[in-house]
Amino acid sequence: MAPPARPGDTPKPTNFLRGIIERDLASGANAERHFGGSPGDAAHHAAGQVDPARIRTRFPPEPNGYLHIGHAKSICLNFGLARDYGGVCHLRFDDTNPEKEETEYVEAIIEAVRWLGFDWQANGTSHLYQASDYFDFMYRAAEALIEAGLAYVDEQSAEQMRTNRGDFGTPGTDSPFRTRTPRENLQRLRDMRAGLLADGAAVLRAKIDMASPNINLRDPALYRIKHATHHHTGDRWCIYPMYTYAHPIEDALECITHSICTLEFEDQRPFYDWLLEHLADLGLLARPLPRQYEFGRLNLNGVVTSKRKLKALVDEGHVSGWDDPRMPTLFGLRRRGYTPESIRAMAEATGASKTNIWLDANVLDVALREDLEGRAPRAMAVLDPLPLVLDNWDEVFGVGHLEPCEAPAHPQRPELGTRRFTLGPQVWIERDDFAEDPPKGFFRLFPPRTDAQGAPVPGNRVRLKYGMVVECTGFDRGDDGRVSAVRARVVPDTKSGTPGADAVKVKGTLTWVGVHEAQPAEVRLFERLFTEDQPDAAGRDFREVLNPTSRSVVRAWVEPSLAGAAPSHHVQFERHGYFVTDRVDHRAAAPVFNRVTTLKEGFSR
Ligand code: ATP
Ligand code: MG
Repeated sequence: MAPPARPGDTPKPTNFLRGIIERDLASGANAERHFGGSPGDAAHHAAGQVDPARIRTRFPPEPNGYLHIGHAKSICLNFGLARDYGGVCHLRFDDTNPEKEETEYVEAIIEAVRWLGFDWQANGTSHLYQASDYFDFMYRAAEALIEAGLAYVDEQSAEQMRTNRGDFGTPGTDSPFRTRTPRENLQRLRDMRAGLLADGAAVLRAKIDMASPNINLRDPALYRIKHATHHHTGDRWCIYPMYTYAHPIEDALECITHSICTLEFEDQRPFYDWLLEHLADLGLLARPLPRQYEFGRLNLNGVVTSKRKLKALVDEGHVSGWDDPRMPTLFGLRRRGYTPESIRAMAEATGASKTNIWLDANVLDVALREDLEGRAPRAMAVLDPLPLVLDNWDEVFGVGHLEPCEAPAHPQRPELGTRRFTLGPQVWIERDDFAEDPPKGFFRLFPPRTDAQGAPVPGNRVRLKYGMVVECTGFDRGDDGRVSAVRARVVPDTKSGTPGADAVKVKGTLTWVGVHEAQPAEVRLFERLFTEDQPDAAGRDFREVLNPTSRSVVRAWVEPSLAGAAPSHHVQFERHGYFVTDRVDHRAAAPVFNRVTTLKEGFSR
């Protein structure tokens, strides 16, 4: 019988990756594996203990940009599977390409993965690795492949190589360099390494099959010459391994059991296995070898995630930076106010499948509401303020009276305490809570009028939430023709929580903030950055579909309980949605709130 569910337990949707791991655990496929305590070759791991980690996965970003929502999917999947099955997930910087990588991105990636709630410390060890630490091994493996007759140095021009590769219908043609002896190849590889050859003059290739129906097996390149400085290894190397050669080796050195990647690598799998099998046969890599499994990418509608396009948005000033709250980067989502919990829940709910998936951007909003509904404190805020003047206030309560009101910080969480504020003769209400000429079914404030038969209809009555009932008596109009104030009278003995409160029935309840104690705040409202679900579809320039109203700023009034709010503080503004104080610009004396999302989909679009 299954154990009883505990509060907070969410059933884990099963997916094909879980199926594979469970099958491997049941068969003991990886149970006898040894782990040398750090990455290393066959001898290093053989000397180690049986691996205390039941499985090993890895998240292997290239440090050439900021992480985005698609990466979050991969992070949650890899770290989540390791956590759920008694394993360990490594954070590995796939930094084998010297030209595009920077330390700035390394720091940002570490911060983003931590923020999402994951960690690479396990069994007293930090499993944070960088692929460039494996360059020596990769080179040694290259020489071993040459000696075994499994690799050769090709000095055809790039153009010749392209032509000789053939295509889907045509087998390739062997390079004239393919029959070089191991001795010759070894000498040429050493020349490459010594810097005797120019960029592009030669490549090291695997010797597999130029007629293979899988083009990836037509003698793929293993090493190329690049006289470039690497952010970590400096000028030690002028030859660099190709991704397809480096990645399987990185996995094997780290004793990864399940190497999970996106679908576009499916055709690379035969080479992944070819390479690792040969290196294990040559005694260089420990068995059992890692296995590669592919899953579908996660894409969100209405965003772009290509690094080049995100960079263009920043560089051309369409957004304020990588952490602009409209950006799909993890730093953008964090600043906007999405919580790590909501992003993890979204990733969990989407499982893993064998096809790429496109999700509506509102899936994140749904997850955010679920996360914050039960824990964000409530407050009142007026985003589009209009004064409501209670003309009979002094007469009813006396000049200068302020009526104390209270409200729970959270309706279901009494332990979060009580908010206190006061009602006075003037309050701020939302401009659209008043209608000069109300549409049918409008239950908020409207002035007295005469109906079609000429009979007088009184102004409408509403409750000021946690306060009293008021009845609209009229309104003022400013020089610009717009309504400048609403006038009303307070209905005595209707205070919320008093015995008379229910004596007067009203259909509308308004949120408000007392003019005498309202705190001014800047509120930033966001909509989607693009007007199209797939901004870059069919070669379209995404700049053509930028949404001109994706960001707006309003001067709002918020209730006094928010004075001194800390940065990154979440709150639900009643009726408006979830907001967070901006982690960069917010100051206690000059508050700045970002709207994460409305309370319901399409509520105020
Ligand atoms: P992009 O080009 O979108 O920035 P990338 O694949 O070039 O992504 P990497 O740094 O190589 O970026 O990615 C690290 C890991 O994240 C890889 O394992 C990759 O497969 C995974 N990943 C990237 N984008 C997505 C996505 N949209 N859905 C799921 N996984 C993704
Ligand atoms: Mg990549």
